[in-house]
Amino acid sequence: MRSLVLFRLDLRVADNPALTAAAARGDVLPVFVYEPDSYGSAAKWWLHHSLTALSQDLGGLVLHSGDTLTVVQSLVADHDISAVYWNRRYDPAGIASDTRLKSALGETGIEATSFPGNLLFEPWQIKTGSGGPFRVFSPFWRACQRHDPPALPLTRPEFSNIAPPADVAALGLLPSQPDWAAGFGPLWSPGEAGATERLDDFLNTDLTGYKTGRDRPDQNHVSRLSPHLHFGEISPRQIWHRTQHHCALRSGDQQDAEKFLSEVGWREFSHHLLFHTPSLPDENLNRKFDVYPWMDNADQLRAWQTGQTGYPLVDAGLRELWHTGYMHNRVRMVVASFLIKHLRQHWRHGMEWFWDTLLDADLANNAASWQWVAGSGADAAPYFRIFNPTTQAQKFDPNGDYIRTWCPELAALPNKWLHAPFEAPASVLSAAGVTLGGSYPAPIVDHKAAREAALAGYDAVKSHAV
Ligand code: FAD
Repeated sequence: MRSLVLFRLDLRVADNPALTAAAARGDVLPVFVYEPDSYGSAAKWWLHHSLTALSQDLGGLVLHSGDTLTVVQSLVADHDISAVYWNRRYDPAGIASDTRLKSALGETGIEATSFPGNLLFEPWQIKTGSGGPFRVFSPFWRACQRHDPPALPLTRPEFSNIAPPADVAALGLLPSQPDWAAGFGPLWSPGEAGATERLDDFLNTDLTGYKTGRDRPDQNHVSRLSPHLHFGEISPRQIWHRTQHHCALRSGDQQDAEKFLSEVGWREFSHHLLFHTPSLPDENLNRKFDVYPWMDNADQLRAWQTGQTGYPLVDAGLRELWHTGYMHNRVRMVVASFLIKHLRQHWRHGMEWFWDTLLDADLANNAASWQWVAGSGADAAPYFRIFNPTTQAQKFDPNGDYIRTWCPELAALPNKWLHAPFEAPASVLSAAGVTLGGSYPAPIVDHKAAREAALAGYDAVKSHAV
């Protein structure tokens, strides 16, 4: 019997419940339908390489672009398929598309079955005492931990693949003129093998010290698994069990491992939120924020996007993003706070820029995180907590290694002035070859004045009844 397996954000062979179920029935036709609106520009680069790796690993993969239902119906007819399997998605467009597919296939007598494979727990399995969804992370994560542990990951299935090798280049996912992704290749290894290697390296070398080191963009204590996880090249269940196994062998890493798994828990929480509140990417979760007096300033938005704000940590983060497709989590929080609070630009502008430039751009994580920083989201940082980009830089990049990497024009400044060149005496700037407004921008806003204006805007939110 022949089954069609639809691959989406689960580009792996091991621990892939849909593929394992199809393999148990007989021949398998693996299929990927490219839906262009589901990816930002940087993510398309990743997708190209990940699909290439998957096709090689599977020994063949049918690629199509267009409407999933139309593509699947024609493949079912052409290849004598009797069952279609996939792992579930939890975003509104994905759910709508899969529901339509299930009912259309059902009407023609084709078996259509979906499986849980992309989260630790299904979003409806984790419930508050009164049976509803969670809005606060800590009780959500405690409820996850009280739940039966996630099932053990599935091993790679043996099966007969009836698909030809994929012509991934035909999808046209890679940038050409200019090739702004040139810096990505040396840094990343998209695909299941790269994901497994990344997790092993992280557990063996960088996990020790994660609990405190994860806040330091100048150090190597984060996993950088986010694009691999987003594309499903590794499953959260694999991460969970491999990390537990690691701790059984190296008990000194227990606290760091718990912190690491709780960050994977934030991913879980974001998907839980998006599933239960499909408007998360579009609307303030806390509707009081609807009255916030946002500014509209295209020049300042452009300065932020291109890392030209005059605040070194902010600029370093946005340049890291552009060149590598990644930004460290601490710096994501600082640059997001700067856009929302110092520039008073709507969080949606930042979310859209991240969507286009992050390799790990993820609807649930991106929307939940931007709303978290804005103060309008679930379990959000209070709006009145406004990061000072200078003190954040002094605290989390004390020696300036991160800033010097991404703002080389400031490299010769002594540490004392590196985090706030606009406070440096003219003689120090001149000795370091820095001209404010020339080689490096003068600050586009004054921190103190911007902070006061943001808080004044917040007064409108506080007094608004919903
Ligand atoms: P690690 O610290 O090694 O964490 C391991 C994994 O846990 C990550 O790979 C990720 O899947 C998950 N994770 C960690 N922190 C978070 C978090 N705060 N929320 C949800 N999941 C988390 N993450 C994305 O994957 N895609 C996004 O589009 C995205 N947008 C963000 C936007 C803003 C404004 C902010 C503040 C954060 C955003 N994050 C996003 C969350 C977080 O910054 C990244 O997941 C993390 O930096 C990825 O690096 P890592 O894999 O080295 O993380």
